[in-house]
Formats: sequence, structure tokens, C-alpha cells
Amino acid sequence: MDLLALVADQRCVACAAPGRLVCAACRRALPWLGPPGCLRCGAAAAVSPCPTCAGLDPALAWVRTAVALHGPARDAVRAWKDQARTPVGRLAARCVVAAVPPPAPGSVLVPVPAAPERAAWRGVDGPADLARRLGRRWGLAVRGDILVRRDERPQRGRGAAARRRLAGAAYAACGTAPRRCVLVDDVMTTGATLAACAARLAGAGAAEVGAVAFARVVTESQWTGLPLGGSEEYCGPKESTTRRSPR
Ligand SMILES: [Zn+2]
Ligand SMILES: [Zn+2]
Repeated sequence: MDLLALVADQRCVACAAPGRLVCAACRRALPWLGPPGCLRCGAAAAVSPCPTCAGLDPALAWVRTAVALHGPARDAVRAWKDQARTPVGRLAARCVVAAVPPPAPGSVLVPVPAAPERAAWRGVDGPADLARRLGRRWGLAVRGDILVRRDERPQRGRGAAARRRLAGAAYAACGTAPRRCVLVDDVMTTGATLAACAARLAGAGAAEVGAVAFARVVTESQWTGLPLGGSEEYCGPKESTTRRSPR
């Protein structure tokens, strides 16, 4: 891709203002997630484990996500996934590093495998892109060869139970997994994919499996009760992190 043309052509993925991938105003409006209530899945819940994650495979020890999939974050993910806008991976990595404490030293990052023909159609493999960038920033190894996708049925538009069923059969582990693995995904929806991948890694020898994702799907009721956090590095002043109603 011609990088100069890309820069000259750059528009904000959220509001189309010229100049940057995400303009300053939309950056300030990123819906950062506050400290998690549920220490396992990272949800803003009163109990831990919360009802959402209690049904997931026990192999998934913890999940942390940077932003809610709303507003500019949703626009950024759409551009990342559907328009092959690879620079979004850089933004996603910076957000994760700003919001999520680094995993324990020696952890190995394992991207959630995308269905091959979908990754080719989009022109970018979001989780692999994010894992590479996080590996550089956190100084952790990345292993993209441990998990493979063996079921191409998309999960989009399916409920939690159907996602769990599909995800359980969709992934396989190759060889021996590192002792401490951290799954990397672009978006966490119900957690079913992460839990299924964690189960495969545990079956292949991992002693602990956590997960990080850039964005997290939150329901409208979760959204209105969400304690939004902030990040000095990326979010600007606290008052800029006001909640906006979902579109
Ligand atoms: Zn903007
Ligand atoms: Zn939870």
C-alpha cells in the first residue's frame, strides 16, 4: 500500500474529519472501560464471577478489554475489519497498553485465529495484527501457530448459547502450548470464543490462560450503568470521558 497516499487521504474513521485516523475529538470520546467489577471477565458487574462469565469454560482465567464497542471505538473496529485499514491496529494496541496492565513476564501472546478466507477478504487479520503490536510493546513472545480454526461458520448474529456451542468445535491446538498464555482478540462479544480457545490451550498444556481484547460488546443496559474509566496517555483530561448515549 502506498503509505503517502494513505496519509494524504487520511480521514477520521468516526466523523470523517480530515487529517488523522481518529481525530482528537473522537479520541477524547473513546468509551474507555473503568476498573472491572468482575475480576474474571472484566465486566462492570457487582459480583465476580459475574452471571455473564459464570457459564464459560473454567480454563479462561481472566479477560481485560480497553474500550466498549460504542461510538468512535465501533467505527474504528468497522474500519479495521471491513476496510483493511491496518493503522487501526496501532490505535487498538495503544489503547490496550494504556488500559490493561502488562501480563506477567514470560507470558506468550496467542492471537485468536480468524477464519482464513475472512481474513483474506478483509485484507487484515485483526487479532494477529494486534498481538504482534502488543508483543512489541510488552516485550512478550507471540505464537500464531498454536491455535487453528477448523470451523468456518461465522458466529455473528448468534446468541450466547449458540456461540458457545459453535466455538467449542471451531478451534484446535497444535502441539504443546506455553505454560502461560494470553489470548488476543480484536472484539470480545460473549466471551464464548475466548473460552473455547482457552480450553484448547489448557488441553495442550497451558497452566494459565488469560485474554485481552481491544473492544467489548456491551448491551444497552450494561452501557447505561457502566463506570467509564480514563487513561492519561490516551484519553486526555478526565472530563472528556463523559458517557455518550449509544447510537
Ligand atoms: Zn473524528
Ligand atoms: Zn464476569
